[in-house]
Amino acid sequence: MTCPRLEIDLDKITHNTRVLVGECKKFGIGIVGITKVSSGMKELVEAIVDGGINIIGESRIGSLKKLKDLDIKKMMIRLPMPSEAKDVVTYSDISLNSELETIIRLSEEAIKLKKKHKVILMIDVGDLREGCFGDDEIFGMVGRILELEGVELIGVGTNLSCFGGIIPSEDNLNTLINIKNQIEERYDIHIPIVSGGNSSSLHLIQNKKIPKGINQLRLGTSLILGTVEINNSRMENTYNDAFKLVTEIIEIKNKPSIPIGQIARDSFGQVPAFEDKGIRKRAICAIGKQDIDIEWMEPQDKDIYILGASSDHLIVDVTDSKIKYGVGNNIVFIMDYVSILNAMTSEHVKKVFFKSE
Ligand SMILES: *Cc1c(COP(=O)(O)O)cnc(C)c1O
Repeated sequence: MTCPRLEIDLDKITHNTRVLVGECKKFGIGIVGITKVSSGMKELVEAIVDGGINIIGESRIGSLKKLKDLDIKKMMIRLPMPSEAKDVVTYSDISLNSELETIIRLSEEAIKLKKKHKVILMIDVGDLREGCFGDDEIFGMVGRILELEGVELIGVGTNLSCFGGIIPSEDNLNTLINIKNQIEERYDIHIPIVSGGNSSSLHLIQNKKIPKGINQLRLGTSLILGTVEINNSRMENTYNDAFKLVTEIIEIKNKPSIPIGQIARDSFGQVPAFEDKGIRKRAICAIGKQDIDIEWMEPQDKDIYILGASSDHLIVDVTDSKIKYGVGNNIVFIMDYVSILNAMTSEHVKKVFFKSE
């Protein structure tokens, strides 16, 4: 079988999704299934949809294009580039927005295509990534959006813990709910959706502290890994090993643990440090930083550990393993978010989908 390959257990992803859909439903919250890691691969998106999802969210138009035949509501979750307005209207039903110029472009394209495009206005409640900031901007913009023929304002939303590391709290989510109430009052309209963030909001579900009025979360990481990022825990009854990377050993030799000669920068500009552990048995796997991030993966064999990587080589200390590894053997890694994202995007990693149940 081809190496390196990412083996993806679709049943575990469907299971995780079902658990999270159920938990959020208890609080009247619907989930948008964020499929960012899918790179538009249908198998993975369908596994998420099968867990009880009615809307999927994607960050790249290229992926939305690949999913155009999938019969489900789609949300563009990264602020659209004005230049891609036509594609956004063509390939998605809803988009998250914070710039009037872009919304005007979306409206124009929607009119041409005889569509009504749905817009969720992003509000920045403190994380300082995307979103309108301050009352003047927010209320002014709503007034202008309501004048546009091609778009419909269906909600307000926020994103947290992505740039500023700001934790979603009852406080900042109540700010969002208050803004929604004020918009409804001022313009005498109904705003059905209050989209209260990503997987980092899940700790408020766990602790039953999610403010009443939040009725949507956009979940990606937690669907594939079950993780509750803020407190480093997992949702009960979820899997964190749906993605496993199988690599092949191309060299295995006993070598000293400290390089010989004068140390300068490595191939990624860092000056490496080494601890002297004597002679160690080291395996080189045929994969590297082009495809993975070593901070976001760990060997399935608990007796071995990653020493480092360059673009195309991953070096693992296998001295203490009970397994006798040789050239051509496999080393398997349990993958975490960033490595999954990278490996899914790398054309050098084969994707193998299977169902375990
Ligand atoms: C990535 C993303 C999400 C999903 O985040 P997770 O932490 O993976 O759940 C939600 N909303 C937006 C705007 C995003 O960019």
